[in-house]
Amino acid sequence: MTLDLMDRLKILADGAKYDVSCSSSGSSRSNSNGVGSAASSGICHTWTSDGRCVSLLKILMTNACVYDCAYCVNRRSNDIPRVALTPDEIAELTIGFYRRNYIEGLFLSTGVVRSADYTMELLIQAARTLRQQCRFNGYIHLKLVPGADPLLVQQAGLWADRVSINLELPTRESLALLAPDKTRDAVVKPMRQVSGLITVNRAERKASRKVPRFAPAGQSTQLIVGATGESDRQIVTLSEQLYQRLDLKRVYYSAFIPIVTDSRLPARPVAPLKREHRLYQADWLLRYYGFAAHELLDEVHPNLDQDLDPKTGWALRHLELFPVEINRAGYEELLRIPGVGVRSAQRIIQARRQGHLGIDDLKTLGVVMKRARYFVTARGRYAGEGPFESNMLRRKLMDAPQRPVQLSLTLEQPAGLITGEL
Ligand code: SF4
Repeated sequence: MTLDLMDRLKILADGAKYDVSCSSSGSSRSNSNGVGSAASSGICHTWTSDGRCVSLLKILMTNACVYDCAYCVNRRSNDIPRVALTPDEIAELTIGFYRRNYIEGLFLSTGVVRSADYTMELLIQAARTLRQQCRFNGYIHLKLVPGADPLLVQQAGLWADRVSINLELPTRESLALLAPDKTRDAVVKPMRQVSGLITVNRAERKASRKVPRFAPAGQSTQLIVGATGESDRQIVTLSEQLYQRLDLKRVYYSAFIPIVTDSRLPARPVAPLKREHRLYQADWLLRYYGFAAHELLDEVHPNLDQDLDPKTGWALRHLELFPVEINRAGYEELLRIPGVGVRSAQRIIQARRQGHLGIDDLKTLGVVMKRARYFVTARGRYAGEGPFESNMLRRKLMDAPQRPVQLSLTLEQPAGLITGEL
């Protein structure tokens, strides 16, 4: 029996929700009484660098797959209904939703059908139809298929704003264990190629704006956390390398939660969402706070402290650097104070031009005093109480509620979007 378009869309939107390499908040708001609905059609939200929230149609082209990754609901050995959309149907749906103002763009992922090249060609065809025939200028995020021909990778970047290929597992060994049809090289090679093409494209476009843009929103990837035994140190170090060597815009972390049974998978991972949250915080410190992976994690501390955010954990291991006098510290030094974020550090620098700051001024500048008070002085005054000793401070900081940090929701530079101060 052939399912109609909306039924297939529902299945393919549901299948795409496990891919977090496009930020997604999902939505369950239905249209029971009123105009418009974001339910059941795979609409997710993501934030741009200028703070705009954009909605994307987030779908798989097909949930059929010739690969058999242990952690994936769409793997070939799973007995589930398989459906697909043609490139024309994808273009038609995207334009239809766009015209009705439901979405501003498309995130298109897929299972692998027949071969990597064949699948990649279909994805490209959908994007090309949207751009050329439908004259669609909205945001397109295309998945790259591991092992696809470099020419196809290049074409994908010419139609898409962002491309991504999921690294999935942190080591070759883990990939071989849980995703035996994929190889590390088949994933990393296109990443390297995209990184090189973006660099060349930037230089060419400086010389001539007529040169077509290649993946202007860069590339991202996803790592599954907790399906295999790697430490946070291995994961954060890998992310650092991806940012530094391949200029990735984002590494997304997806806590492994068993949705399929497989003897190769852990039955019950430990606190997966909390671990994911701490990894995002550490990632934030790498990208915006000037931390190096080896400062946050080392042989003695291979995993992030689940009870404290990574910056506070680092500060407690380096009490010799604290308390910091807020009126004298440089910007980089301010960023390392728990409770002081990018924006509050900038505000402190600015406010200091008007005169010396007191402890009471810090809260109005956005500093989270529940944490910062133990690590700063202002005009020589220390606002923490009790002995300045690691275990004592740890107990107090664990009692202080840790404000949540908005996670992984940006397409580009999100400095203006930090809603919690690390
Ligand atoms: S390649 Fe692996 S992760 Fe991707 S859809 Fe197929 S089975 Fe799932």
